[in-house]
Amino acid sequence: MTIDAEDLVLVCCSDIAGQVRGKGFPARDLEKRRRFGVGWTPTNIMINCLGRIPATPFGPRGDLFLAPAAETETILDFGDGSPREHWFLGDILTLEETPWECCPRSFLARALAALEAEAGLRLVASFEHEFHMAGAEARSGDSYGLGSMRSIAPFTREFIGALRANGLEPDTFLPEYGTRQYEVTLDPAPGLEAADRAVRLREICRAIARRHGFAASFSPVVTPGIVGNGVHIHFSLTDRAGDPVTFDPAGPGGMSAQTASFAAGILRHAPALCAVTAPSVLSYERLKPNSWSACWANLGVRDREATLRVCPLPAAADIDPRPRFNLEFRAADAAASPYLQLGMLVFAGLQGLREALPAPQIHDGDPGALGPEERARLGIQDLPRSLEAALAALEADEAAMGWMGETLAGAYLMHKRGEIDAMRDRSADEMVALYAEAY
Ligand code: GLU
Ligand code: MG
Repeated sequence: MTIDAEDLVLVCCSDIAGQVRGKGFPARDLEKRRRFGVGWTPTNIMINCLGRIPATPFGPRGDLFLAPAAETETILDFGDGSPREHWFLGDILTLEETPWECCPRSFLARALAALEAEAGLRLVASFEHEFHMAGAEARSGDSYGLGSMRSIAPFTREFIGALRANGLEPDTFLPEYGTRQYEVTLDPAPGLEAADRAVRLREICRAIARRHGFAASFSPVVTPGIVGNGVHIHFSLTDRAGDPVTFDPAGPGGMSAQTASFAAGILRHAPALCAVTAPSVLSYERLKPNSWSACWANLGVRDREATLRVCPLPAAADIDPRPRFNLEFRAADAAASPYLQLGMLVFAGLQGLREALPAPQIHDGDPGALGPEERARLGIQDLPRSLEAALAALEADEAAMGWMGETLAGAYLMHKRGEIDAMRDRSADEMVALYAEAY
């Protein structure tokens, strides 16, 4: 008897650890699995980036579904006889088919729905990713260099093709400043789709890198002391009809009043947000002064060390700025689930709209060059300097805890404090290596 090899389909989620985990079944069963997907259990959300569950509020109890979202179907078919990858991202649902209170994807959907219901606004976003490619050749002086592209060229063309084949609309691919560091950007998409794309992009990148004998890592720091891998979250707002409302030439930095309040909400809650947007122990090796990342909760125009940056536009009279104008949140990295990151940003922005907060001061210059009193006078808070401090800021921020809800916030704090404990006695090199492997 000969064996007919069978393809599998997986349904996955992006969890608190920013990992993509799921379960599979024979591809021939896809139609009958479309509604309920696969079984899932609450404690799975407590699996940390080292694959351990130091503590769980759920124990062995409870049952959930991981139901596939049709629009996230991802197929990597290389047409060369190698096994194809076929998977979906999904929503974690209760047996009653309602969103589970800790489901990251449902959390973002809830934030976006609140933004639309309360403020009549929709969010458009794009996640800009940097990553390190182990196995790529490196020549000193190759920062941004054409030479950096050569050794990985077979990967790159297949990667761009795979993004396009899966509807991810590649925008740019470039050699970055760091050794073996690259960056990839996608076209903007509506909020939930933008986060889906971010999760899918990371996995597609890892899968294709592996085929070419490389290992892609999005860990916030792979080469200590040089430069980190950031995730810069670009966003803009539209009204319900999809018309852009982010720009106003008369507003500060070109921001409309709504954008200004949204930005002010993000900056006010930035210390708490970091617990979710920069959620690993190593994240704080990247968020340091003079690292082209972010260190203070400030708004800058074309300033690549501001937490919120007003992005540049061509100053050409024949170009309509309205659909292009966007802000960028830079205190983020790929140790997080994009759903939780974007959901927290949306809730914080919405809070700014609810309170009609005035535009944050645009500070031109390095807040690090000012004394603490001067920063306080300008309303510039420090970002947390460790995951521990970020979690304390989250716990102290009543509004932010409320956006997450008691169950998710409790699980989140427990999960991340377990991660801190697991990293406590590691040497710096060991920690960098563990995170590089995890992300
Ligand atoms: N690598 C920097 C970061 O950690 C960003 C560099 C850039 O502006 O592209 O965010
Ligand atoms: Mg970059």
